[in-house]
Amino acid sequence: MSKENTQNLFQEIISHCKEYGFVFPSSEIYDGLSAVYDYGPYGVELKKNIQEYWWKAMTQLHENIVGLDAAIFMHPKTWKASGHIDAFMDPLIDNKDSKRRYRADVLIEDALAKIEDKIEKEAEKAQKKFGDAFDKEKFLATNPNVIRSKEKLVAFETRFKKALEDNNLEELKQIIVDLEIACEVSGSKNWTEVRQFNLMFSTEVGSLAEDSSTIYLRPETAQGIFVNFLQVQKTSRKKIPFGIAQVGKAFRNEIVARQFIFRTREFEQMEMQFFVRPGTQKEWYDTWKEARMKWHRSLGFAQESLKFFDHIKLAHYADAAVDIQFNFPFGFKEIEGIHSRTDFDLKNHQEFSGKKLQYFDPETNESYIPYVVETSVGLNRTILAVLCNAYKNEKLEDGSERVVLSIPPFLAPVQIAVFPLMKKDGLGEKAYEVFNSLKWDFKCFYEEKDNIGKRYRRQDALGTPYCITIDHQTLEDNTVTIRERDTMQQERISIEKLKEVVSEKVDWRKGLR
Ligand code: ATP
Repeated sequence: MSKENTQNLFQEIISHCKEYGFVFPSSEIYDGLSAVYDYGPYGVELKKNIQEYWWKAMTQLHENIVGLDAAIFMHPKTWKASGHIDAFMDPLIDNKDSKRRYRADVLIEDALAKIEDKIEKEAEKAQKKFGDAFDKEKFLATNPNVIRSKEKLVAFETRFKKALEDNNLEELKQIIVDLEIACEVSGSKNWTEVRQFNLMFSTEVGSLAEDSSTIYLRPETAQGIFVNFLQVQKTSRKKIPFGIAQVGKAFRNEIVARQFIFRTREFEQMEMQFFVRPGTQKEWYDTWKEARMKWHRSLGFAQESLKFFDHIKLAHYADAAVDIQFNFPFGFKEIEGIHSRTDFDLKNHQEFSGKKLQYFDPETNESYIPYVVETSVGLNRTILAVLCNAYKNEKLEDGSERVVLSIPPFLAPVQIAVFPLMKKDGLGEKAYEVFNSLKWDFKCFYEEKDNIGKRYRRQDALGTPYCITIDHQTLEDNTVTIRERDTMQQERISIEKLKEVVSEKVDWRKGLR
């Protein structure tokens, strides 16, 4: 798909989210607040379903993972110990003509991705020219244009990696200049110097000025888990290896918050910290990498829509780190980070608090600070990925069009819509009876307005997997039609069987088994 088409598709998805009550710009009556969004009636259901699915996959399916819900505010020393006060920075750069602000590393990453795209396009072009006889591997290894692009890519990647490792801001600027990156708004290459910018929001706590002290809105949920690590371990009586899972808000004063709910300043993370014996972290890192990829696939994402991306620069706490990226309409971008965090956090909290955070291992009779493997996925980014993956504008056989959200049935905001074919002749009452009997087990929706075709279309646009229609035959033999969203096929089944049939279809366990 061309850049323009993917841009249009993304705009369509954003409009759809607003029109159908998934996501609204926040405080819109005051013209909204940049990069802040509210979740409407269907968005909040989808959000809760994804969150619950993650929670069950973590805590219910793993006997050695327990939950926690720590406060957003934490003692300010937490952030000194974690390194966030000194090192949670992004490099920013401004274009002097447009005054537009960018993250220097993101500008470079995007420019490098363009070189990769160019290589891929050369191969596609040659494939078209040579047809079946085309040998892609050979072409990539021998074509002079490709070789030149590859050499350029490797040279810039090497410089970029080193600049990030050395925190060399002048070199970052030089790479932007050498890559001839232009501002997308002004088109000019007139850049300021690169500066570091701390992403934490701070506020004051205390009623009197003299009592007040600066505290931070947590930039990640992980630290709430670390400071509670021993309490949780003791009260849940878990032995290493074990994990602590948490879902909650995090806040980052992002330099560039764009792309709808992909990057916002307030967002939700679903994090799990897995505590392991030192020396075994690599094994657990690999295990969790695979387990988390499997979870994402179970959301209905095709294999080619997901990929691993090894970090170019390791964060200050990590000895290995990988992202799981999803192919959004604006390209492959991070949806989850898996980090081997070593004993960095616990060791520092032990040092800064003066309290021992060691675990006594009954199997080895030793006390030690455990190593940690973290899985950290953004709830909002997962919602966006599910919506982008589900959104389809289909041309039907009869020439009409429909917008359908093919959300996996177990995540759908509404699972069953119940319609009387018409309101009269007692069909309305019968349909209401069916609705009332199903609502204990499923999220249901009742509607009697408009013709049945319009009602189906509306449910397709909300992603409702099953529509049940009550007609005159229902009054005679207690059967209804059940229509499946994606195939639009209808089947007649008896009312007594509805619960069993739908339960099977919306079963959340299918994807993970
Ligand atoms: P990025 O490189 O995109 O800024 P990150 O590497 O800083 O992300 P992590 O610190 O690994 O992100 O956070 C884990 C997850 O939290 C990310 O994979 C993402 O899904 C989510 N996340 C991070 N920042 C934001 C944000 N500003 N808005 C929405 N989700 C976010």
